Amino acid sequence: MSVRASAASLRVQLPRSAARAYSTTLEATPSPPSPPSPRRRRTIFSGIQPTGVPHIGNHLGALSQWQSLVKEAAQQPAESRDSLFFSVVGLHALTVPQDPARLRAERRDMFAVLLALGLDDAKGGAVIFHQDQVPEHAELAWYLNTVTPVNRLMRMTSWKSKLATLRNANSEDEIDDSMLQLGLLAYPVLQAADILLYKTSHVPVGHDQAQHLELARDTAQIFNRAYPGRRKDGKGKGKGVFRIPDVMLTTHPRIQSLRNPLEKMSKSAPHPSSKIFLTDSPSDIHAKIKSAVTDSIQGVTWDPETRPGVAALLQIFSGYSGEEVQSIARRFEGTRGIMEMKESLAEVVESGLRSFRGEFERIRKETGYLEEREREGARRAREAAQATMKEVRAAVGTD
Ligand code: ATP
Ligand code: MG
Repeated sequence: MSVRASAASLRVQLPRSAARAYSTTLEATPSPPSPPSPRRRRTIFSGIQPTGVPHIGNHLGALSQWQSLVKEAAQQPAESRDSLFFSVVGLHALTVPQDPARLRAERRDMFAVLLALGLDDAKGGAVIFHQDQVPEHAELAWYLNTVTPVNRLMRMTSWKSKLATLRNANSEDEIDDSMLQLGLLAYPVLQAADILLYKTSHVPVGHDQAQHLELARDTAQIFNRAYPGRRKDGKGKGKGVFRIPDVMLTTHPRIQSLRNPLEKMSKSAPHPSSKIFLTDSPSDIHAKIKSAVTDSIQGVTWDPETRPGVAALLQIFSGYSGEEVQSIARRFEGTRGIMEMKESLAEVVESGLRSFRGEFERIRKETGYLEEREREGARRAREAAQATMKEVRAAVGTD
C-alpha cells in the first residue's frame, strides 16, 4: 500500500544517552572518536481490537506504522534486530457487548488482516498473536489493578466516549458512571498489562491512545517502586520488573468519521457509512466518500476550525497520496471543487487499498494455515509472557 508512513518520521523520545552524546560534541577540546555504540534492540508491542473490520483510520494511524517497523527490522543485523509483537486484543473487545459468533469471525478476520499486511514476513517479522490465547495478559492485569487508583481511571475520556457511541448519545454530558461496567473502566489497566508483559520499550499508536500510554508508563513506575524485587546477585533491592515504555505517536493526524467530522472514525461506531473499511469494494469507497458530510461553502479550503468535514477528507487524501493538505486544497479551489476532490480522493484511497484487498481475500479462505499461524503466534508470545510473569510473582511473593 502506498502510505506515507515511515518509521524515520516517527516522534520517539530521545534516550538520555543520546542527549549526553549530543552535548559532548560541543566541548572545546575534541576527545578521540569512540567506536559507535551498538544499537539497542527495541521491543515493540501494539494491539488492535477485533471489534469489526479495520478502517482507514486504523490503517493510517497504526497499521501502516507497524508495516514500516517490520521493514525497518528486516534491514537490521540479526544480533540487534527489534523484537516486534502485534496482537489481536480480544479481551478488550469484551468491554462492549458482543455476539459470540460474530466475535469469533472478527477475531479470525483481524488475524488474517495482519497476515495480509505482511507483518509476519520471515525476516524482521513480528510475532502476530491473539491476546486472549495468552492467559498471562489477564493475570498481569490483576496485579496491576491492585496498584491503580480508581479516580485516575474515572478521569480518562475513553470510557465516556465509548459509552456515548454505544448509546447513540448526542453528547458525552448525557453519560454518567451509573452506566459504566468495571471492565470498560479498567480497560486501560489491561492495556498496560499487554504492553508491560513483553518488557516493551516502544509502543506505536494513534493519538487517541496517548492518555492510555501515560497510564501504562505510570503504572510500570508505581509497580516497580512497590515491588522492586531482589538484585540478581541476591544483594539488596532490585529495580523492578518493568521497562518504562516510550510512546511512538504516529505523525498522521486522527482520522475523523465521514458522518460526523467532530468524532473519530471508529470500528465500533454503528454506521458503516461513517468509515471506509480496508475491505470495501471500489464502488463502496466511491459511494461513502461521495456522501461524506462537508458543508455548503463552495470550493475546497484548508480550514479545520470552520470546515471540519472538508479538513477530514483532506487529511485522508494527504495520508494516502503523501501530498500536503494545503496543496491538495489549492488544486480544488473552483466552484465544483468539493465534488472533484471527492472523486479524486476515492481514486487515491481505492488504489491504496487494492493489493491488500486481494491478499486478504486469499488468506482468509485458508483456514488450516490461519489456525497454524495462530497456534505458533500464541506459543511464541506465551514464552515471553511466562518469563515476565515468573519475575512478577517472584517480586510480589506469589511464587
Ligand atoms: P473501537 O471503536 O472498537 O475502539 P478503533 O477503531 O478505535 O476501534 P482500536 O482497535 O481501538 O480501533 O485501535 C487500534 C489502533 O488504531 C490504535 O493504535 C489507535 O490509536 C488507532 N486508531 C483508531 N482509530 C483511529 C483513527 N480514527 N485515526 C487514527 N488512528 C486510529
Ligand atoms: Mg479504540
